[in-house]
Amino acid sequence: MTAITHDARRTTQKPPQQGDVVRQANTYLVGGVNSPVRAFRQIGAEPVMLVRGRGAAVVDVQGRRYLDFIGGWGVLILGHNHPAVVTALRRRISQDIMTGLTHPDEIELARLIREAVPSVEQVRFTVSGTEACMTAIRLARAYTKRDKILAFDGCYHGHGESFMARRRAGLPKGLAQEVLSIPFNDVAVLEETVRQHAEELACVIVEPVAANMGVIAPRPGFLARIRELTSRHGILLIVDEVVTGFRLGCGGAQGRFGIQPDLTTFGKVIGGGLPIGALGGAKRIMQHLAPEGEVYHGGTFAGHPLSMAAGIATLKELTAHPPYERIERLTQQLVGGLTTETERLGVPVLITHMGSMLTVFFSDGPIENDQQAKRSDRELFGCWATSLLGDGVLIPPSPFEALFLSSAHTEAHVERMIRAARVALRKIPSR
Ligand code: PMP
Repeated sequence: MTAITHDARRTTQKPPQQGDVVRQANTYLVGGVNSPVRAFRQIGAEPVMLVRGRGAAVVDVQGRRYLDFIGGWGVLILGHNHPAVVTALRRRISQDIMTGLTHPDEIELARLIREAVPSVEQVRFTVSGTEACMTAIRLARAYTKRDKILAFDGCYHGHGESFMARRRAGLPKGLAQEVLSIPFNDVAVLEETVRQHAEELACVIVEPVAANMGVIAPRPGFLARIRELTSRHGILLIVDEVVTGFRLGCGGAQGRFGIQPDLTTFGKVIGGGLPIGALGGAKRIMQHLAPEGEVYHGGTFAGHPLSMAAGIATLKELTAHPPYERIERLTQQLVGGLTTETERLGVPVLITHMGSMLTVFFSDGPIENDQQAKRSDRELFGCWATSLLGDGVLIPPSPFEALFLSSAHTEAHVERMIRAARVALRKIPSR
């Protein structure tokens, strides 16, 4: 079997057949992927494999170009291969790729985060958002000397054991008892659950704007109520800003909604495209991590110099030239255009959005929690997404992910997406 190293721009070789690539992927990788959503099974399409990208454009292994709205699952707020990030990485690589000891850039990236996010006094870097969330709840359990955690149905905090407790497979039976999960946006259930378990809860962890059941904004007052109840009962509030951190502004969702969590988890944007995660919060809590405290966390790659360099370049760019207003205007333009098209064609669609992220639900709505999100028509979404793909527009291959815009998107890109969406909507079978 020949290796698939085809690069359409650099060779005159014929591109590999899609079927061959998929077959090879399935031979060597479980399900052909290293992260399930990349298999495109949720929309019943063949997986796209990307080999290059610049700005808002990406190219697949067969040389097909797409306008990208996946944005590295929210990582690439500056678009693919932003020059400032590329330059920073080149400079770092010329010095060393891996140090294995503390690099001054770790201090600098932590400082940039602390300056932007007032609830963060100290930072610990990890390699992924999963690791950051896992470590944050371990810290919360040690700090409060309580075991239970409260999370919200449909929110995702990575695949740490506690967060997977309800899926059961491969997890000890007892774990599920330590994890309570309630509907997002339901204050009455929240109040009742906290009342019942006040003495046992170590933390409440929440995506301040849900982005893993589609984009779902918190109802007015929902986050503030969580903060009130947790403060009253000595429960730590962990706000998971892996997606929203430096995406909904430099201050993240907590800046936007005016809440002060005890701990915050980050990932995605802060690594500028390289693997990263981080947790941060008040020093009195963070000091419980080793080597100051008793909660162990460490890692060969934690604070990796390349991630730090790309992250610093990204955060400096975001602070020096904040793109937020412009990207959010473009997002509004996209939402407006898509709404007009769906209304004109009489397709029941609800577009949820916040900042530069949005989800297109094939549903009459309303959608304020995961139960309502799951009632949307996934089959119609699949038809629509597959048709967009065929037209060179790449959106997440799942009805429960967010589309992300970046500073590399333009009005012309948005218009192109709206045109493609119109064509794709016309192809949808009527119900
Ligand atoms: N938290 C949230 C809100 C996420 O969206 C994700 C991943 N999409 C994670 C945590 C886990 O991050 P990672 O994939 O880097 O482990």
